[in-house]
Amino acid sequence: MSVNSQLLRKIPKVDELLRHPQLTNLCCQHTVLTETVREVIDSLRQAILSGEEPCLETESICAEIIRCVQKKTTMNLRPLINATGIVLHTNLGRAKLSTAAVRAIQSVAQDYNTLEYNLESGSRGSRYSHVESLICKLTGAEGAMVVNNNAAAVMLVLSTMAKGKEVVTSRGELVEIGGAFRVPEIMEQSGGTLVEVGTTNKTHPSDYENAVTENTGAFLKVHTSNFKIMGFCEEVSLDEMVRLGHEKNIPVIYDLGSGSMIRLEDYGIQDEPNVLDAMKSGADVISFSGDKLLGGPQAGIIIGKREYIEAMKKNPLTRAFRIDKLTLAALEATLREYLDPAEVLKNNPTLHMITAKMDTLEPKGRQLLECIERVCDGSYSAQLTEDYGQVGGGSVPTQTLLSSVVAIEPKHVSLDILEKRLRELSLPIIARISKERLLLDVRTIEEHHFEYVAESIKNCCQ
Ligand SMILES: *Cc1c(COP(=O)(O)O)cnc(C)c1O
Repeated sequence: MSVNSQLLRKIPKVDELLRHPQLTNLCCQHTVLTETVREVIDSLRQAILSGEEPCLETESICAEIIRCVQKKTTMNLRPLINATGIVLHTNLGRAKLSTAAVRAIQSVAQDYNTLEYNLESGSRGSRYSHVESLICKLTGAEGAMVVNNNAAAVMLVLSTMAKGKEVVTSRGELVEIGGAFRVPEIMEQSGGTLVEVGTTNKTHPSDYENAVTENTGAFLKVHTSNFKIMGFCEEVSLDEMVRLGHEKNIPVIYDLGSGSMIRLEDYGIQDEPNVLDAMKSGADVISFSGDKLLGGPQAGIIIGKREYIEAMKKNPLTRAFRIDKLTLAALEATLREYLDPAEVLKNNPTLHMITAKMDTLEPKGRQLLECIERVCDGSYSAQLTEDYGQVGGGSVPTQTLLSSVVAIEPKHVSLDILEKRLRELSLPIIARISKERLLLDVRTIEEHHFEYVAESIKNCCQ
C-alpha cells in the first residue's frame, strides 16, 4: 500500500471529530460545524494527495476546525480600533456616535415607536417631524428635511428646484467627492442643466450675472471640501452670490458638504465653513452631511426657505431617499446634544477628538506607552513621539492635527507583518507605518482599549 493511502486512512472520520469534546463545546450552529469539519478534512485529503504529510493529530485538526469556525462566525461588519489619527475616516465608518445616539438607536430598534405616528392626534404622523423643529432651532432655518446622505440631499434639492432649468455653477466648484459623487453627473441625473462659469482658479460675480437667462433655475455653490486651490485664485463668496440672486430673483443653493455646527476656528481649525454662517448669508437652501463634522449618523440634512422644503417633501424622490428609523433616532439624539454647546464638545466623539490638544493628548500618549512597555518581552521597542493626524472625511484637507503617537519597532517580524497581524485580529487594530516604525495615534484610540492594544502589540511581534 502506498504512503498516500496509509495517510489517507489515518484522517479522522467526520462523526468521530463531531463527538470530540473540544468541538461539542463549541458555541456555533451545528450546520456550520459539520460543514467546517468536512472542509478541514477535505483540505487534509487534498494535501496528502499532492504529496504533503500534514499533521493528523486529532488535537491539531480540532484546533484548525475551531480557527475556521471562529473566522466564519465573526461578523463581517464589526468594530475595530482606529489608530490612524484620522478622525472621520471614510473607510472606517466616519463619525463615531455619542452614547446618547447609540442608546436612542437601541431603544427604537427594540420596540415599536413613534416613527410615523402622532401621539396627540392618534393618527398618522410624519417621520420628518422628529427633527425638523430641532434643526430649525439650532440653525435658524425656516424649514428642514432629512434624507439618507448628502449626495441624496443635493440630488433632491436640484431635482425639486432646477429640473428642466439651468443651474449656474463655477468651474472651480465642479468637485468629485469620494465614491463617485460628481457635481456634473448629479446635475444630469437630477434633470437640471449645468451652466459652467468662470475658470478653475477664478470666478467673478459678473460671470454669474452674465450667465443668467430666463431659464435660470438656481445658482449653485459647492464647498470644495476635499481640496484647496491656492495662489492666483478668486471665488464668489456666498454673501455676494446671495446678493446677486436676490437682485435677479434666482434662488441660491449651497452644498456645504461637511456641515459643522460649531465655529471650528475657535479651536484652531481654519477654513471650514459652518452651517450657522451659511444660514446668516441668506442662502435659500443649504445641504450637508450628518456623519462628517456634525458627528452624527449617515444622513443628508437640508435647511432653508419653507416653500422649497415643502416642495421637496412632495418630490417622489423623497421616498427613495428616505431616512430610516435607526438613523433618525441617532440623528435626533445627536442634534439634541447641540442644544448645550459646552456639553456637545464633551459628548460628541467627533468634536471631542478633533478639538483635543497636546495638553490632553501627550498624557494620553504616555499612558499608552506605559501599557505597552509594561507587557514588553523584548520583541519590540516603543517610543513616545509626535506626528500629524487629520480631520478626514474629505473635510479641512490642508490642515493636519498634531498628536501624541506611540512608535513601535518590532525586532523579530517586519513592519508589514506586524501591521497585517494587527489588522487580522478579531478586534482589528488599524495602524500606519511611517519612517520605519508602526505608529499608534492616541487621538482616535479610546483609553479603555489601551491594555488590549498593548497585549496585541506583544502577541503580534512574536
Ligand atoms: C461629502 C460631500 C458630499 C456627499 O455627502 P455624503 O453625505 O457623503 O453623501 C456632497 N458634497 C460635498 C461638498 C461633500 O463634501
